[in-house]
Amino acid sequence: MKGNKNNKTYCIFCGRSEDQVLMINSELGLQGVCIDCAAALNNIAREQQSKKSKKEVEAYQIKTPAEIKAHLDQYVIGQDEAKRVLSVAVYNHYKRLKYYHSKDVKDEVEIEKSNIIMVGQTGTGKTLLARTIARLLDVPFCIADATVLTEAGYVGEDVETVLTRLLQAADYDVEKACRGIVFIDEIDKIARKSDNPSITRDVSGEGVQQALLKLLEGTIVNVPPQGGRKHPDQKYIQVDTRNILFIASGAFNSLERKIALRLNSNAIGYSASDNRKKIEEKDLIKYVQPQDLKSFGLIPELIGRFPVLTHLDVLDKDALKRILTEPKNSLIKQYTKLLEIDGVKLSFKDEALDYFVEIAEKNNLGARGLRGIVESVMTELMFELPGSNKKEFTITKKYAQSQIEKYKDKF
Ligand code: ADP
Repeated sequence: MKGNKNNKTYCIFCGRSEDQVLMINSELGLQGVCIDCAAALNNIAREQQSKKSKKEVEAYQIKTPAEIKAHLDQYVIGQDEAKRVLSVAVYNHYKRLKYYHSKDVKDEVEIEKSNIIMVGQTGTGKTLLARTIARLLDVPFCIADATVLTEAGYVGEDVETVLTRLLQAADYDVEKACRGIVFIDEIDKIARKSDNPSITRDVSGEGVQQALLKLLEGTIVNVPPQGGRKHPDQKYIQVDTRNILFIASGAFNSLERKIALRLNSNAIGYSASDNRKKIEEKDLIKYVQPQDLKSFGLIPELIGRFPVLTHLDVLDKDALKRILTEPKNSLIKQYTKLLEIDGVKLSFKDEALDYFVEIAEKNNLGARGLRGIVESVMTELMFELPGSNKKEFTITKKYAQSQIEKYKDKF
């Protein structure tokens, strides 16, 4: 609606005409509203939004660490240490949020953010853990890949785009995004490449680490709403990162060697028999300390901004087998359900499960590979069973082998 008399435009709120005000707007899509009234409206809207989010935070029913862990147990096999550490860190994070939103915090005790870094081989459940927690807490969650980030001005993405993803996950509700969880995957890939950074520019290594610092510590960051490179004409959304929980993860290949060196671990197996060496090497990750990440090439300032460090264990045969059957949405449960919808009762012989695990281990695929293996075994069945007269089918090792044979190059 537009106030329009004598061919002049009037503000529909204050009634002033276009020659009495600086501008009668179109910018905000509010036709017939002068710039002063538009600004006032904007402030009111912001205040309301902030009151609303304050209420939301106050209404948080924070889950206890034990409740968080119990939830994780339903989806993630093993990884007890990581689950406990994560549950406590997330619990503290949301307790801290509530504390700062409570009416009168005049307390001098400043509770610091507990960003987390997880170290462990690929396919051991790092992303799964973070994803499962985010679902439980019902907060915006995004995964950002550290490998695509580069220092500003170089080909690649600016670090701020990490927050673009979070905004997208929050449907551009900025207040909500400001309480979200950002999962930065492959943090090990931005390790410093050489010990002497002055020889060449290390645009995707130390430069990125430096750029990440300000995001992690908690400042207002200008985020390009559509991601990509920042450029001068772009409009930005301001995101306050103080209450965003960052969880970084990486495989840190060969980190065990650095840990072993630190522990001076000849004594615990490096010069011992092959078999013993293997066992010890697998367990070394349990002893990871911040200084090992430093010797891997993360800068101390970055490590300092992740006060919580935890590790994920290598998944052994037993764990892989449990992953096939136990989680709430395990692969076996999913395929059984899929065929049940077609009226077919599917079952798996134990020997077939052992066979899947054997192949996953042989190919060094870890849990990540299980899906591909089971999928390959199931493809022909899923093609033929629907519409056939068969009402039951049992997957034996022999059947599984005959199917895997077809994908010799893959496995
Ligand atoms: P990464 O450690 O590389 O982040 P992911 O969490 O992405 O590994 O794991 C890949 C897939 O493997 C998951 O989607 C899940 O299906 C399975 N998986 C891995 N680890 C576990 C685990 N500990 N418990 C249950 N499933 C797991």
